[in-house]
Amino acid sequence: MLENLSERLQGIFSGLRSKGRLTEDDINDAMREIRLALLEADVNFKVVKAFVKRTKERCLTADVLDSLTPAQNVIKIVLDELTELLGRTDSKLVLGSRIPNVIMLVGLQGSGKTTAAAKLAYRLMQESHAPLLVACDVYRPAAADQLQTLGDEIGARVYRGDGRDPVAIAREGVQDAIDSLRDVVIIDTAGRLHVDDDMMAEARAIRDAVRPDQILMVVDAMTGQDVVNVVEAFAAEVDFDGVIMSKMDGDARGGGALSIREVTGKPIKFISSGEKPDSLEEFHPDRMAKRILG
Ligand code: GDP
Repeated sequence: MLENLSERLQGIFSGLRSKGRLTEDDINDAMREIRLALLEADVNFKVVKAFVKRTKERCLTADVLDSLTPAQNVIKIVLDELTELLGRTDSKLVLGSRIPNVIMLVGLQGSGKTTAAAKLAYRLMQESHAPLLVACDVYRPAAADQLQTLGDEIGARVYRGDGRDPVAIAREGVQDAIDSLRDVVIIDTAGRLHVDDDMMAEARAIRDAVRPDQILMVVDAMTGQDVVNVVEAFAAEVDFDGVIMSKMDGDARGGGALSIREVTGKPIKFISSGEKPDSLEEFHPDRMAKRILG
């Protein structure tokens, strides 16, 4: 993921390094190339515009141009702005004091919600929590089976209910967690292939019924430019507290994901990069920015 962007940026930086002193034209050229590289990686165009403007302003100062190592200064500024774009500080998952704590996952169908639910449960179990997974996707018959299989694999209890009403299942799930002494409830909800009024209404109904301590949106990092529209729609219709970025191991361009924080102000909390239960990592903006810059 993002390897192409990484290679492009490294090429631009080595071009700058080979020049020694830098002129305003050199900076302008480099910024134009960075702009293109970001756009080609699918970063949202408004985000790119603002990013390049900020970066360019900081690079076109006497401090940078007259310094002994101008290229190094430019790279440092790009790294700093990229870290800022990704959220600057870590946004850890903090559980509230309410027991059971309720975490609800939302997102489009296929975004990786069910997988992320199990991974989150696995992670919480490593931290000595006792999570309960609740299968509220009643439309995709295989979804509850999938959650059950994943739950069995990691040894987490799964509540499936026997009804067709996701709101009732969510409520019963919370009660089951109380009865079975679980301290965290992870609710896996149904998605649709596209943003859809029924899906949003259902997510709101579940939210209002169980009043989750936090709602995490699962976003497929391979969604491309459209990711911004999807995330904005969920922010407006359901609202959520943070993002789990799934499929970071894919080979798509992935830049859409880089736009989420800037567009919605919502932090990325985790990145998921694989199908194994332990492949959910906390997201660190500075580490990601460094990884992209190579
Ligand atoms: P849901 O419809 O949102 O619940 O999505 P699923 O959890 O069923 O995931 C859809 C597909 O993506 C499944 O085939 C998962 O195995 C796969 N998947 C989910 N997360 C990841 C990930 O981080 N990396 C990869 N490579 N595949 C993933």
